[in-house]
Amino acid sequence: QNPFLSLNYERAILELGDDYYDEVEAAEFPQLILRWRNDALLSRLGLDAANVSDEHFIEAFGKFEVHKPLLALRYHGYQFGEYNPQLGDGRGFLYAQVRGTDGQLYDFGTKGSGKTPYSRGGDGMLTLKGGVREVLAAEMLHRMGVNTSRCLSMIETGLDLWRGDEPSPTRSSVMVRFSKSHIRFGTFERLNYIRRPDLIGKLLNHVIYIYYSHLGAEPDKYALFYSELVQRVALLVAQWMAAGFCHAVLNTDNMSITGESFDYGPYAFIPKFDPNFTAAYFDYYGRYSYSNQPGICKLNLELLQKPLSAVIPTADMEQGLSQFEDCYHAQYRVLMLKKLGFSNLEKLESGEYEELLKATLRFLNNYPVSYHHFFSDLATTFSHKWRDDASLILSGSEITIELGASELFLHWSGLYHKILTNMAPDDIEKVGQTLIQSNPKTVILRPIIESVWEPIAQDNNWEPFYNLIKEIQN
Ligand code: AMP
Ligand code: MG
Ligand code: MG
Repeated sequence: QNPFLSLNYERAILELGDDYYDEVEAAEFPQLILRWRNDALLSRLGLDAANVSDEHFIEAFGKFEVHKPLLALRYHGYQFGEYNPQLGDGRGFLYAQVRGTDGQLYDFGTKGSGKTPYSRGGDGMLTLKGGVREVLAAEMLHRMGVNTSRCLSMIETGLDLWRGDEPSPTRSSVMVRFSKSHIRFGTFERLNYIRRPDLIGKLLNHVIYIYYSHLGAEPDKYALFYSELVQRVALLVAQWMAAGFCHAVLNTDNMSITGESFDYGPYAFIPKFDPNFTAAYFDYYGRYSYSNQPGICKLNLELLQKPLSAVIPTADMEQGLSQFEDCYHAQYRVLMLKKLGFSNLEKLESGEYEELLKATLRFLNNYPVSYHHFFSDLATTFSHKWRDDASLILSGSEITIELGASELFLHWSGLYHKILTNMAPDDIEKVGQTLIQSNPKTVILRPIIESVWEPIAQDNNWEPFYNLIKEIQN
């Protein structure tokens, strides 16, 4: 028997009634070739990877024969600032929900599983490269401490897809996403659009009951829910910013009501610290640029007030939203200081850390330095001797070869040195560990993704892809 059949399934969404989804069928594919199985997730499902075969994965996540009904979720959303009432799961469905061994409820959501009533002109499919890119994004973000969905499986389907103005067809995949929820800001927006405040209340109770259960017994649970969502989103966007991640499509239909990061399309990790960096080629005005992300997330939270005002007093939500900036800045600061090696929260209050963080960003902003390598070089070259000799900081790295004598670097390394000088040897040890932990060597800048995609496209050689994931996961 397939071990995936015996998971702790719990179809919470069905209890809401049928106003929130449509039953759909999965596409049948000419072939099912398992390209990625995320064994790292199996223990959370109560499974031992050794007992799960590739065939089990293919049966469960390529054929979708059990767990009917398959549910395309209904939602709307603001896309690039324009309200779009024609969204919804257009190439995916909620396949199943499972209680994890950690007590949390997880969604198995598909991507690339065929047409639905919401496909509009689309084919309901996912390119193989799109699957590869989402697997990589989720694993990388997870490694960097970002609260993210993951991919449980990715299966090549043998279909040729014609996309855009490409002269030849491209391969396709079907993916199963493992996430906390697929209920989006846009799920609520749709209910406001169709004037169903009753359904908004019902959905909100459901969300609190399942994803904010610690608030369930509070007399003002609705206001507390919104405040906590604000804090969760502020933390998420701080995590993206520190990771150097640009999501690229921060429409309200891509914002999870649990504050989890999900749905990775044309994302990119920033090569340099460029506030204007924009990841999607179709984002002509840089609406979702790297540095616009905190402001856009706040705006999306503000837009959500409209549907939620059916249940939650507006004044309470205003109050909750007013915490966004402070919360974001506090979290960003903590995460960036961690990237610099400092995790002792009591001491971080002192002004010299503030100065160091400013000097770090000024240096990165003024020179064409790799955002990623600045931090990973700091981690790999770290030495106790830095405490006694500022000129050794980052010495030997590409950064100091080029810029070691520049005024901004010397200012920065002077501040770094001053902090180390006042530290006990044990604390310095901790700095080295924090640096390593916070700054993985591996990065998935676009050229790296291309370098693992090319062998797949040219020779069906998956080794570089698997090796890259192994590097990320270790
Ligand atoms: P996204 O920008 O990926 O978050 O998707 C926005 C909307 O477009 C959602 O309703 C998707 O389901 C839909 N969509 C994207 N790609 C396709 C496709 N190939 N076929 C059908 N619907 C799609
Ligand atoms: Mg989406
Ligand atoms: Mg998408």
